[in-house]
Amino acid sequence: MNEMRPARHASREQAQFLRVLSRDEAMARFAQALDPKPLGIEQVDLAGALGRVVADHIPAPVDVPPFDRSNVDGFALRAGDVVAASENSPASLALNDETIACGTEPGLTVNPSTATPIATGGPIPRGADAVVMIEHTDLEADRLVVRRAVAPAQNISFAGSDMALGEVVLRKRTQIGSREIAMLAACGIARVNVFRKPRVGVFSTGDELIAPGSKLRPAAIYDSNGPIVCASVIENGGAAISYGMVSDNAAAIEAALRKALTECDMVVLSGGTSKGAGDLTAEIVGRLGKPGIIAHGVALKPGKPLCLAVVDGKAVVVLPGFPTSAMFTFHEFVVPVLRRTSGLPERDESIVEAQTAVAIPSDFGRTEFAMVALSEQDGGLKAFPLAKGSGAVTSFAQADGFLTIEALADRLPQGSRVPVTLLSRDIQTPDLTIMGSHCPGLEHILSALSDKGIRSRIVAIGSLGGLRAARRGECDIAPSHLFDPNSGTYNAPFLDECLTLVEGWRRMQGIVFRKGDTRFESRSVEDAIAAAIADADCHMVNRNQGSGTRMIVDRLLNRAEPPGYWNQPRSHNAVAAAVAQSRADWGVAISFVADAYGLGFIPIAEEHFDFIIPKARREHTPVIAFLEARESPDVQAALAKMGFTPAPKAQ
Ligand code: AMP
Ligand code: MG
Repeated sequence: MNEMRPARHASREQAQFLRVLSRDEAMARFAQALDPKPLGIEQVDLAGALGRVVADHIPAPVDVPPFDRSNVDGFALRAGDVVAASENSPASLALNDETIACGTEPGLTVNPSTATPIATGGPIPRGADAVVMIEHTDLEADRLVVRRAVAPAQNISFAGSDMALGEVVLRKRTQIGSREIAMLAACGIARVNVFRKPRVGVFSTGDELIAPGSKLRPAAIYDSNGPIVCASVIENGGAAISYGMVSDNAAAIEAALRKALTECDMVVLSGGTSKGAGDLTAEIVGRLGKPGIIAHGVALKPGKPLCLAVVDGKAVVVLPGFPTSAMFTFHEFVVPVLRRTSGLPERDESIVEAQTAVAIPSDFGRTEFAMVALSEQDGGLKAFPLAKGSGAVTSFAQADGFLTIEALADRLPQGSRVPVTLLSRDIQTPDLTIMGSHCPGLEHILSALSDKGIRSRIVAIGSLGGLRAARRGECDIAPSHLFDPNSGTYNAPFLDECLTLVEGWRRMQGIVFRKGDTRFESRSVEDAIAAAIADADCHMVNRNQGSGTRMIVDRLLNRAEPPGYWNQPRSHNAVAAAVAQSRADWGVAISFVADAYGLGFIPIAEEHFDFIIPKARREHTPVIAFLEARESPDVQAALAKMGFTPAPKAQ
């Protein structure tokens, strides 16, 4: 440990001088230092060939089919003998004394005025030049009556017509799918030369990480970068070797890196890239081999703390810990290198033009990439930023693509026409676009719709965001629970002449607390609030200004501001989590989340969860399907089970 210390200090100082590079410069330097190319060739058999990349042009070693063969069940004959045959004047031929089944080699020649019975796939006998279908013939005594003329070559596939001997069946760099396997098998190839898969070592660093499948402990999060990096490695032609999670400890990280570098061709790890106390990874990478760090800090967002290194010819990439940054920088910097190393052709970037639905703010001074969802509207594509920030998994996972905001711009105005780079080749824009508040009850409707083949997308932007989107006609449905304190009613007061309201369901709001807490257990709402306020050590969790729940809280508190009042998260779940984790003792949330978190619940009032719909969309088929699905007995039962009650039917 002691010998390591001076080195660490030296490289930390060095690190301060590392310049933040532009994205293009970082890419260019990385490619130059690495010069990625395929790592060699190996032979695999067909069963193991799926997904592999063909290393040489593969010529067909035989003709396919290997002989002239019949395409139908019928009779092989000479076309000239039946040239005048018709219903009214059929031709009559003698039958040869053999039947050619599949796999039978013909023995007899088809002489003039004779025919030989033949099955689909049977080899055409010598002398014959066409096959008449059995449907156009009759047997009379021991002669064949032919009621239809056939042209020479009719119903015959000639040898080599599918693939000719010597013809290139698969070209170098083709990725083998099931269809390619069919071609190889058809021409008798059992083993194929493919590029060796680059072995990519993958691990995640962070004391806070826990493997999916294990129980979360307090303050821990699941490792999502590890699994997504492994999957993306495989998608881009590599073999992922997972080394799991490593704690923020210099010796542990160094050991993992050295092991991975010995066993793999490339290493991709995430975390430890920013300037926090536990962020050691980059400096360790810097001293593992030559030339070392190529770029540490790239002027792009998400992804600034990216670190690119080459260690004795092997790429080592340290992705930022934030999931969206990790995924985006992997996509931009690792995928091109990986594809070249695995022999795959470059990913074909599809770019579409879209119009920004809202203004997108951006940092001045670095190229910024905004993950967007696309939606087909009035004949054009609209781009909606998935603005959950780089700490979110969903911003990348649910995006259709991304757009670029140049370093010298501080925002992209609403309505800008911009190129959007698609993350996968075919975007499937949804049939139904839902924007606004998300309620778990919606999922039952959406899964009923997906059973019917209707694709929907929810963009959770809150009730107010949904209302604005609906006003601009950007969504089909805006689920909403907006409370109007003046009228004491929900949603209806917010409509304008372009919008209509369809009632959804009611959600019981109440005080949530940990079961057994005597300040709340078995008390009325008033008693519980009085007990809470009386106890100086009783912490609450509030809600954000403008939410319906906040109005309830303010009414309950009647101007009191107990400890925790300024903790104002934006969702029911966050309130329940705070109470369940003892960061707060009480808050107001819907009964569904109280149950989900195993909390006690004192009912207060029902919140209305309704659907605001632009009138222009009300008769849109997917909207009708949505509203019908909501009425279906299955969905009603599922909603009831979650504690949501139907709105009383309007008269
Ligand atoms: P770091 O780059 O280690 O400073 O991490 C930045 C942020 O990303 C922190 O909030 C981490 O908890 C989070 N993070 C780091 N690694 C992972 C991972 N493997 N999966 C999910 N989140 C992560
Ligand atoms: Mg970390």
